[in-house]
Amino acid sequence: MNKNHNKFDRRNFLKSIGAAGLGSVFAASSIRADESKSGSTKEKAKEEGKSEFPQVPTRKLGKTGIDVSTLSFGAMFNVMDNQIILRNCLKWGVTYWDTAYGYAGGRSEQGIGQYLKKNPDIRKKLFIVTKASGANTNSQRDKRLQTSLERMNTDYVDMYYGIHGLDDPDQLTNELRDWVKNAKKEGLIRYFGFSTHENMANCLKAAAKTGWIDAIMTSYNFRVMQNSEMKEAVQTCHKAGVGLIAMKTQAGEQKIRSDEDKKLAGHFLEKGYTEGQAKIKAVLEDERISSACVGMRSINILTENVAAVLDKTKLTAKDKKVLDTYAAATCSGYCMGCSQICKQAVPQVPHVAKIMRYLMYNNSYGEHERAKKLFAQIPANVRSKLLTTDYSAAETCCPQNMPIGQLMNEAVRKLA
Ligand code: SF4
Repeated sequence: MNKNHNKFDRRNFLKSIGAAGLGSVFAASSIRADESKSGSTKEKAKEEGKSEFPQVPTRKLGKTGIDVSTLSFGAMFNVMDNQIILRNCLKWGVTYWDTAYGYAGGRSEQGIGQYLKKNPDIRKKLFIVTKASGANTNSQRDKRLQTSLERMNTDYVDMYYGIHGLDDPDQLTNELRDWVKNAKKEGLIRYFGFSTHENMANCLKAAAKTGWIDAIMTSYNFRVMQNSEMKEAVQTCHKAGVGLIAMKTQAGEQKIRSDEDKKLAGHFLEKGYTEGQAKIKAVLEDERISSACVGMRSINILTENVAAVLDKTKLTAKDKKVLDTYAAATCSGYCMGCSQICKQAVPQVPHVAKIMRYLMYNNSYGEHERAKKLFAQIPANVRSKLLTTDYSAAETCCPQNMPIGQLMNEAVRKLA
């Protein structure tokens, strides 16, 4: 990872503007006031079996009717070595825990399992979600699900995203529908859905027609929500009762690099919150989204996100305009996952959107090993063409004006 880029990331920016700025970030929330509740209030809460800390609000997850926490704990890292984060999630009522068979080579699910082994009583409070990373057949799905249950010390998962990263709606077959029916009957899963980062609008619309997809975790942020196809797809799912969980809520950016980034951060800081908090607010102001799933490796990040969700201040029209202007000015830095466009323009390299995402994991999230591992899964005959392909046709039709050729080059350099 480029260390220079990291020198001036979002958190360093906040540090650089001084403690006063950080103080105001958290003053926007009731979090501090509630933390300092008087002893008698704490005792009363304990007596009533309630948490003494403010709890993040909940929303119904589509037609499942289940109340889920509006902030979800994204556990795409080694949770075995970070058990304290789970305790802190519970403290604030962040009870939707999102993991996957493939996260951190299994150490994410194992970490949840370790915690549940020590605290079996909390299982019922949790909404545990995992994904069948890399499963292409029902028998692979069976094996992965069994492994996930064993790793997590639980008999069932609340939501199973049986396709981890759907990009082709044709994968929603009758065979899969029958598998879902059976897994529910056996009590292994309560609900079923998929996650999607590519061709999202078409995947969402197709799912709404099936009648057997309970929820979808989709990329959704201040950029994606402006796309007219996504607007229509979200409404279609909402009408059909398909629950929606947003991921990639920060649109990949975690660093302050350009003048636009500084302007955005400065605007929201004056209002009392970080631009990261503003981005979560923008997503959750869409009531059709039940929860925002955010990767939270540290208590600082968790606390910042909890504060954003607890704070009841709505974004103003001006705030939204600032986000829109920023999105337009920086569009060439974010891939919208409209892979159908790229695939048509450069059919010999049908993985452009995926490679863009892996580059984002590397550059924005600092997840070099994960990005490299995923990149290695691109078929060798496609990887061998990455540097010699002419991407000009794709660049011409890319709605984000992305310098695709240059970025494929960067991906090979950093991930191959
Ligand atoms: S590179 Fe452009 S066209 Fe291709 S998926 Fe990304 S945003 Fe869409």
